[in-house]
Amino acid sequence: MRKTQATFKLGIEFSNWGDIGERYFHAFGQIGRSTWMGDFQHLWQHASSLGWGGELQDYCFELQAAKAGKFDKDKANYAYHLDAGLYASFLSELSQKRGVKRIEGTIESIAMDSENGHISNLVLKNGTSVQGDLFIDCTGFKGLLINGALGVGFEDWSHWLPMNSAWAVQTEGKKEIPPYTKSIAHDASWQWRIPLQNRVGNGLVFCSDYTSEQDALQLLTDNLEGDMVSQPRLLKFKTGKRNKTWFKNCVAIGLSSGFLEPLESTSIHLSQISATRLVQMFPFNGMDEVLQTHFNNYVDGEVDSIRDFIILHYNLNRRSEPFWQHVATMDIPDSLQHRLELYKRTSIAFKNDLDLFRVDSWNQVMLGQGIKVEGYHQMGRLIKDDNLRQAFNDLQEHINSTVEGLPMHADFLRQYGVLDLHRKP
Ligand SMILES: Cc1cc2nc3c(=O)[nH]c(=O)nc-3n(C[C@H](O)[C@H](O)[C@H](O)COP(=O)(O)OP(=O)(O)OC[C@H]3O[C@@H](n4cnc5c(N)ncnc54)[C@H](O)[C@@H]3O)c2cc1C
Repeated sequence: MRKTQATFKLGIEFSNWGDIGERYFHAFGQIGRSTWMGDFQHLWQHASSLGWGGELQDYCFELQAAKAGKFDKDKANYAYHLDAGLYASFLSELSQKRGVKRIEGTIESIAMDSENGHISNLVLKNGTSVQGDLFIDCTGFKGLLINGALGVGFEDWSHWLPMNSAWAVQTEGKKEIPPYTKSIAHDASWQWRIPLQNRVGNGLVFCSDYTSEQDALQLLTDNLEGDMVSQPRLLKFKTGKRNKTWFKNCVAIGLSSGFLEPLESTSIHLSQISATRLVQMFPFNGMDEVLQTHFNNYVDGEVDSIRDFIILHYNLNRRSEPFWQHVATMDIPDSLQHRLELYKRTSIAFKNDLDLFRVDSWNQVMLGQGIKVEGYHQMGRLIKDDNLRQAFNDLQEHINSTVEGLPMHADFLRQYGVLDLHRKP
């Protein structure tokens, strides 16, 4: 954490997403207590029908801690905010210390084995040839190996996720460090604020069909909370997935394998999980199509489900601007349509094996975006009203008293030894 200026992340606060003026959290914790019969939201729906029970989020510890700006590593489920550039340097240093050999250079051409169509070696600008049995394509959006050399195409998802550009800029660090990301929706864009130890990462993701680059930059700079400490950078991207992430003797990891916009900050996770899976499914006996299909099925399952989760944020909105109307009325993947219908009718949210997001993530975003449910499991009727009310009160009291005893996030970082005591905000 010291090397990457990292902070802890309990979730994301979404503002203006369901409608202007609305706010909700996607926190990484569990909500209430579930039973074998059904998840907590059914009990909460039952309580709501009786006229009490408050908001579902009142029963999520991580969410209440985030709202209070507090944190304790031993008590919460969390992720990290980190500086991706520093993280790359950290991993590079770590792996070279452990024996990885690094050859720096620009790939100028890629030589192929004419017999089996595999990549045989990379030729660098300075003439060096790098041979290998297995190549990992980490060349970003270019996909020089997987696409350039092997011609594996790309499944375009921009009809579901039309954002295609972003401005990114850093602002000065702050004294208080919220343990969560902020995501603020605008007319045809959304803005992120990611607090690190020494600075705040900011950006505006937009769709060039609806907002010009200049207007997007103006909107971002008008809505910054501190002074800029870097020049704004424009990034262009296309949302979608490589048709096969492992093909022949090449595995695409990172942006060469596809891209989902950073709404739920999932790219680095996807790179990491792909690297882990490659270790688990390493081709010790040479390239094997069965193994490759198995690997590709995992990647597809993981990415498709994250894609659906991100589309959900856009599709369930009640805003009136043309962009929001467009995404509210567009066709969505069948897999998401099924989830939405099921939730609307029954309040059932589910997590498949390859899903990154848990039941309570789906719950929070569906309800946060304003879905209206028509039914729920009647398990609450098996419990006497007074007992249920008592159980709900106990849960809330436990959460509130635990949150009260937590340190503020910046103080926790100091105690934990990662935040410089003499840091100037
Ligand atoms: C707007 C935006 C916001 C993001 N926010 C998040 C977030 O919040 N959370 C998250 O997890 N992820 C986020 N990501 C994704 C994250 O930035 C990427 O996962 C990360 O950069 C890793 O990408 P990569 O290494 O695959 O590609 P890149 O970072 O693009 O690296 C590709 C590398 O290939 C090199 N290269 C290209 N051509 C050649 C050549 N001919 N020879 C040699 N080298 C070459 C380039 O120099 C570069 O170093 C975001 C991305 C964008 C665009």
